[in-house]
Amino acid sequence: MVTPPLIELRGVRKRYGGSGGQPEVEVLHGIDLAVHAGEFVAIVGASGSGKSTLMNLLGGLDRPSSGSYFFEGRDVAALDADALAALRRQTFGFVFQGYHLIGSETAGENVELPALYAGLPAEERARRAQALLDQLGLDGKAQLRPHQLSGGQQQRVAIARALMNGGRVLLADEPTGALDSASGAEVMALLHALADRGHTIVLITHDREVAAQARRVVEIRDGCIVADRMNGAPVAGTSPVAAPALPPQDDAQARRATFFSELGEAARTASRGMGRNRLRTGLTLLGIVIGVASVIVMLAIGEGARQRVVEQMGTLGTTIMYLGGRAPDTGGPPGLITEEDLAALAELPEIAYVMPVIGDPIPVRQGRVERQVYVFAAQHFMPDVHQWKVALGRYHTEAEDRALTPLVVLGHRAQQHFFPGVADPRGRQLLIGDSPFEVIGTMAERGAESGAQSYDDMVFIPYSAGRARVYRVQTQPDYTVIAAASPEQVGPAEQAIRRVLLARHGREDFAISNAAARLQAEAETRRSMTMMLGLIATVSLVVGGIGVMNVMLMTVRERLREIGIRMAVGARRRDVQRQFLTEAMLLTLAGGVAGVGVGLAVGIGLIAAGAAVVFSVSAMLLAFGCAAATGLVFGFMPARTAARLDPVVALAGE
Ligand code: ADP
Ligand code: MG
Repeated sequence: MVTPPLIELRGVRKRYGGSGGQPEVEVLHGIDLAVHAGEFVAIVGASGSGKSTLMNLLGGLDRPSSGSYFFEGRDVAALDADALAALRRQTFGFVFQGYHLIGSETAGENVELPALYAGLPAEERARRAQALLDQLGLDGKAQLRPHQLSGGQQQRVAIARALMNGGRVLLADEPTGALDSASGAEVMALLHALADRGHTIVLITHDREVAAQARRVVEIRDGCIVADRMNGAPVAGTSPVAAPALPPQDDAQARRATFFSELGEAARTASRGMGRNRLRTGLTLLGIVIGVASVIVMLAIGEGARQRVVEQMGTLGTTIMYLGGRAPDTGGPPGLITEEDLAALAELPEIAYVMPVIGDPIPVRQGRVERQVYVFAAQHFMPDVHQWKVALGRYHTEAEDRALTPLVVLGHRAQQHFFPGVADPRGRQLLIGDSPFEVIGTMAERGAESGAQSYDDMVFIPYSAGRARVYRVQTQPDYTVIAAASPEQVGPAEQAIRRVLLARHGREDFAISNAAARLQAEAETRRSMTMMLGLIATVSLVVGGIGVMNVMLMTVRERLREIGIRMAVGARRRDVQRQFLTEAMLLTLAGGVAGVGVGLAVGIGLIAAGAAVVFSVSAMLLAFGCAAATGLVFGFMPARTAARLDPVVALAGE
């Protein structure tokens, strides 16, 4: 019966160096070796003879420089990194002299690791790991960390891990080298038992006595096989017992299970790493914290400013300008704005309304109540100009204005002053100066105003009636309200007014006050402040991101051996990459949480100081998004560095 060997090396050579100025050394000089399923082979040789190099090649951790390696007839040289990882994951179990357990994980988690990358569901993984630990005499030790276990126990944990995915081929490199003789004997007994159960075992040792316990002994010296003999044991390969292997996984399901398990794994290692190195983590995250806090404060200030401007635009009007006479800079009396001037301005297409106003505090009487009240005399379109509604009754008409009809509309508070408790004062009389005026309505409440007097305290009368009956000696308006046709027309309207009046007066003896433009300028200032905060946020996030990248690169360097172990048990490159990327993102998200806290605290401080600050959930989500994106961008390079590591180099690391 011709069974093809499980492992077949033909003329395998391994060279190191040869690049970067280092001399090339050949460590293995043309190895020919065949191992059949179920064999228990010891490879024995002096230190430095190339045993570990050979084992790394057998286990798919490394590739031959030349020659060929067939596993079950499959050419291993043709496999890419992930296919090699799959081969290790499904077939090989490594047992090293130094145990190579991940120090930050418990014994149970270490044992589960190969199944994690194989996509076994979590409960099944835990059950299987527990069963293996129990079988190996480690019941009750699953929750302990490697440093809490003796050497012999650690090595048994490593054997349990090697068996986790079935362990068809166990590759043990000096498994007893670091153990006392009793523990060493236990481990050897375990290997014998496993060999009896059908596992193929390649045992590497420099100790001839240990080697003599195997059924077949291959002797290596200076990179060449010098002897290969049977120990009188049954001929290998004739009655191989099927080793317990895991059923093949449904690939898509396995991948999904892997994804979430690995996410959990990454979260666990990340939080452990952060906890271990709190100061470093905190300092690294400072940039992210400041960046996220700036994003939140920036958006809150921006929103507060926007809302305040909208509010003020609402009360002052977005289209309104004020025109009055002014002494010119060159000297001379203030100009007079004549009716002809106003008529000319009313012709301008940029202008919707030209409304001359006479207004002064005047004694107003109603029954026994007498008050100084600002009496506002303007034309019938006053409510339109100020975008203000009449709450009760009506405003006067153009005809009534022309006919000098003595009518008055009360401000909201003026009504309360003169007619307290009267719901509808229409038809009642008010003595303004010494002329009686009939109340025809009440304006809606206008609210707080930045000016000297509140509109709500005033009373409103027709312009002509006011001039004729109240302000008799005054022929000039006090000022003129001009409304642009639209908010966009405010600037052009102001220029047009200046042009027309300059042409008519020949000098600048007038002043235009443009509240809308002033507000817009104010908003502009706030916007530039917001942009500055935005710049701070961006710079902080970039600096923070570089900090995270730096710390992740350090982490990769510090955890080389862990990465090597993960690769040896079958982690794909993308598994390693995903883990470190997740860790970077969790790190920055932790910074994001702290940043949101700081941002809220700063914002609340600003609110207490009277600033207009409005928080929004979307701003916080955006800040979190920024933090996560920073982690993703700046974690990518370290994660890729980790993923591209050579498993052998990584394992030898630290
Ligand atoms: P053993 O396990 O039998 O003690 P190794 O396989 O570890 O021997 O090493 C065999 C020889 O290869 C040694 O001389 C060692 O110095 C050399 N060697 C191993 N790894 C490397 C490497 N990465 N670069 C250069 N030389 C190496
Ligand atoms: Mg060695």
